[in-house]
Amino acid sequence: MAPAPRPDLIACHDCGAVYRRPALRPGERARCPRCGAVLGRSPRIAADHLLALVVGAMILLVIANLTPIVELSVQGLRSSATLFGSILALWSEGRKLVAALTFATTLGFPAIELSLLFSALLLRRMPGSPLFAPFLRGVLALRPWGMIEVFMLGVLVALVKLSHMARVLPGTALWAFAGLTLLLTVILSFDLKTLWPDPAATSAADSGEATLCHVCGLVCSGATAHAHCPRCGAALHRRKADSLARTWALLIAAAILYLPANLLPIMETSSLFGRESDTIMSGIVYFWTSGSPDLAALIFFVSIFVPLAKLLSLAVLAISARRGRRRGLKQSAQLFRVVEFVGRWSMLDIFVVALMVGMVRFRGLAEIEAGPGAAAFGAVVVLTILAARSFDPRLIWDASEDADDRA
Ligand SMILES: [Zn+2]
Ligand SMILES: [Zn+2]
Repeated sequence: MAPAPRPDLIACHDCGAVYRRPALRPGERARCPRCGAVLGRSPRIAADHLLALVVGAMILLVIANLTPIVELSVQGLRSSATLFGSILALWSEGRKLVAALTFATTLGFPAIELSLLFSALLLRRMPGSPLFAPFLRGVLALRPWGMIEVFMLGVLVALVKLSHMARVLPGTALWAFAGLTLLLTVILSFDLKTLWPDPAATSAADSGEATLCHVCGLVCSGATAHAHCPRCGAALHRRKADSLARTWALLIAAAILYLPANLLPIMETSSLFGRESDTIMSGIVYFWTSGSPDLAALIFFVSIFVPLAKLLSLAVLAISARRGRRRGLKQSAQLFRVVEFVGRWSMLDIFVVALMVGMVRFRGLAEIEAGPGAAAFGAVVVLTILAARSFDPRLIWDASEDADDRA
């Protein structure tokens, strides 16, 4: 039997509770009373305005990549770097993983995501187009991997660092990235799930268990093992498949790599005064002693505290999803949302290294290379993001119901 769409229902992606869909005014959001998650947001802007913003963002992305971010001058020598030039420099040095990661999160994925969203918004005007669903699904899948706002912060950190060694002139791309960050903030605040057309309600007589589609947010009843969502075509699961096994595997891999990420140098500087290696920690100490304690605190928070806190809290959440706890469930759900939200900011140090490598290229005077720790650190960030995405927070609530039944 095909799963029956239930547009009259809404299900919480964090705890699995099912509610009657509320009618929202523009800008209003609905929260889950049980766990506090945002169930849905009614958009403040119309889809046509979103299209205009997407076009603007695409233009800024092109400008941001064709013009230099910054120009440096030291004793009459000049050096300027574009984002793409920095990525090529990393690649040719053999730091292929760091180069690929920087390329994907600042250029590749954002460009594909914006093009797919642009096409989906146009196709939306032609009801029944077979490409609309796969395009919009592509946008939703790429969304967590575009990190332009983190990159923008990385540019600012790199500029402070560079201003200690050279005269720094901001380039056109710096302003383009700033504008792009603003536009993307508005674009990302638009709940894309509201773009899906409402399916016709079926007779609510069938009372099979409600299953939430992870991709488009539609609730269906009567979904069998290998069913697909009638609206977007994604595979339907009651809970994410093998969630705990996958979360543990990714967490263990990330925990192992956390050591080389912190012990090996992430950056190697060669200048007239010799060679110098920097680990994440020595970079923090540098900012602390050179008069920027605020930046030292920021980098400590995103590069050392956040990855460690993320590893530990996901482990605690995975344990409570197996054991079942009867108190503090709402706090667990909140902890999971924080973990999901802050994880991407750990990419900051990778971007700073990429920019320093691309910008400081004064032959014989000073050159910077990425160290082996950078690749390990990048892998930790990606693995913890994947671990958080594999984890299904609803398992904590399932396990607590089981524990209540036993008691
Ligand atoms: Zn909930
Ligand atoms: Zn769906």
